[in-house]
Amino acid sequence: MKMKKSLAFLKIILVIFLCFSFIAPAFANTIDQKRDELQDVNRELSENKNELREYKSQEDLLAAELNEIEEQLKKAQEELDKINRKIRGTEKEIEAKEKEIEKKEEEIQQKEEEIAEVEAWLADQDDLVKTRIRAIYENGSVSYLEVLFASSGFSDFLTRFSFLQSILNSDIALFNQIKEEREKLEIQRAELEEQREELEAHRHELENQRQVLLGLRNSQLDKQAQIDRQSQERNRVLSQVRQAIEAQEKAIRDLEAESKKIESLINRLLEEQRRESGEAPSQLAWPVPGYTRITSGYGTRIHPITRRSSFHSGIDIGAPTGVPIVAAESGTVILARYYGGYGNCVIIDHGGGMTTLYAHAHTLNTSVGQRVTRGQRIAAIGSTGFSTGPHLHFEVRINGQTRNPLNYVR
Ligand SMILES: [Zn+2]
Repeated sequence: MKMKKSLAFLKIILVIFLCFSFIAPAFANTIDQKRDELQDVNRELSENKNELREYKSQEDLLAAELNEIEEQLKKAQEELDKINRKIRGTEKEIEAKEKEIEKKEEEIQQKEEEIAEVEAWLADQDDLVKTRIRAIYENGSVSYLEVLFASSGFSDFLTRFSFLQSILNSDIALFNQIKEEREKLEIQRAELEEQREELEAHRHELENQRQVLLGLRNSQLDKQAQIDRQSQERNRVLSQVRQAIEAQEKAIRDLEAESKKIESLINRLLEEQRRESGEAPSQLAWPVPGYTRITSGYGTRIHPITRRSSFHSGIDIGAPTGVPIVAAESGTVILARYYGGYGNCVIIDHGGGMTTLYAHAHTLNTSVGQRVTRGQRIAAIGSTGFSTGPHLHFEVRINGQTRNPLNYVR
């Protein structure tokens, strides 16, 4: 009966032993697997980062090209504006020339009307004079003689003769005068015609100039359209590159998150493995991230307050009040209160006989019994207790014996 009981006890012991001996290799396998996974993720991450760098240099190149194109477009637009101004100037000149031509044509018209009037009058006079002369010199010799023969004496004859002669002379003079007037008008009209032709020639010249300018404008517009197309093409590529950059950045963020997750999983597994094996941690996190200045090292020193040679049981890390203090390793908080010369103090048990101590804190962010993880905030820098200024007094102990923390944190 007694034998049976002790056998059952042995069985239980055996089962427990077997469990433990299986747990350790199981952890090791998972950790190796996770480490491989982490390596894969990190490799992918660095590939993605290389690609991102390439895309970004492409982006810079395209942006520079686009700037240049923009500059070209500006110049082309300026050139076009210049040509357009010239075209408007030429068109105004043409308009002015056309007005002048119109005026000249009106003047010519007027001159022609004057000439027509004179000609009509002249024709009338011509008929009249011709009739009279005919009457006098042709069959008119009869009536001419009739007039003369009808005279009452020689003196009367002379009077009648001179009268007839004066009528004739004045008719001829008038006729000649009108004729001269008409010739003068003809000359004026010819002059006006000449001027008009000159104006027409000038207008023609301007028209040609305008055609040349219009041609220039068309080629300038073609050039501009070409630059525009180039710009659109570059912009299209640029937006593609930017999309690729965005996608790459997102992939990097995702991979980084995954990498962190796997890392923290590995750390947790390592810690569990260590805890199962009952070993003390061999490597600790720096307890004041961002502040590395050690104001007093571990070992024998002259105490800053007592001025006596004494043993310094930890290291002092200088940092301003309020800066976060973090757990150097995962563990259980076994003290979190004001603790004499240590001031506000936290002690964490990490298993395997190791404890860490954080002294002189301004405030505490943890309490006894709490499970904390490596890097978790537990307090803030202060100068409570036996202290000359804000700093962290950090101790590492194995089974209660102090050790130089620098052997663990570095
Ligand atoms: Zn100290």
